Amino acid sequence: MKELLHELQIPYPWNVQHIQHRQKKIVVELGRASVPYDCPKCGKNASVYDTKARTWRHTNLMNCRIELIADIPRVECSTCGMHTIVVPWAYLRSRNSIMFELWVYKNYLFWGGDNIQQLSKWIDYHPPSIERIGKHYQRQECLKELIDDLWVDSQFFASVDPESILPTSAVEQIRESKSVQRSPSQKKRISLGRGRYEEEYDDDCMF
Ligand SMILES: [Zn+2]
Repeated sequence: MKELLHELQIPYPWNVQHIQHRQKKIVVELGRASVPYDCPKCGKNASVYDTKARTWRHTNLMNCRIELIADIPRVECSTCGMHTIVVPWAYLRSRNSIMFELWVYKNYLFWGGDNIQQLSKWIDYHPPSIERIGKHYQRQECLKELIDDLWVDSQFFASVDPESILPTSAVEQIRESKSVQRSPSQKKRISLGRGRYEEEYDDDCMF
C-alpha cells in the first residue's frame, strides 16, 4: 500500500484520504487541502455551491483495477456564474483519468486489430471503448510525438497527474481535443433555483 501511495503522485492540493480493497479492485478516495477554489473560467476566487461524488477509472497497477473517488464541487463566480471545477487528472465530467486513456491508447497501438478482445479481457474494459480511445488519440496529430514516445506501463507506473510525464501545454491540448468533439445541442440548462441556471452538457464525457 505504501508503494501505491508513492506511485500515485497526487498533485497538491489534492491528497489521498483512504485506500480500500473492494473485491478485485482498489478504491482510492481523494481529498483536498482547505485552500480556496478558483473559478475554472476566469481564475478568480469562487465559493463552493454544492458537491457531487465522482468516480474515475485509473490505470491498473500490478494488474489490479484502480478507481479514484472524490467529492467535486460546483463553484459560484460573481462574474462567470456556476461551474464545476476541473480536476488535474481528468476531463470535465469524464469517467476516466487522462492517464488511464493514455494507457489504453498505448495498449491499443500495441495490441489493436485482431487482439482487441484479448486486450479487453486483460484490462477489463469494453472493446468499443478501447477502439474509441485509440482512434481519438490517433487523430491528435499535434500530440503524436509526445504521446507516442511515452512509457505508460501499468506494472510500474500509476501517476494520477498527467503533468508528471507531459508538459502542461500537451495536457491542455488533450483536454481541448476532447471538448471540441461536443456539439452545442448536447448542452442543457440546469436550474439552480431562484432564477439562476448553469449550462451543462447532458452526457457524461465517455469513450
Ligand atoms: Zn469566473
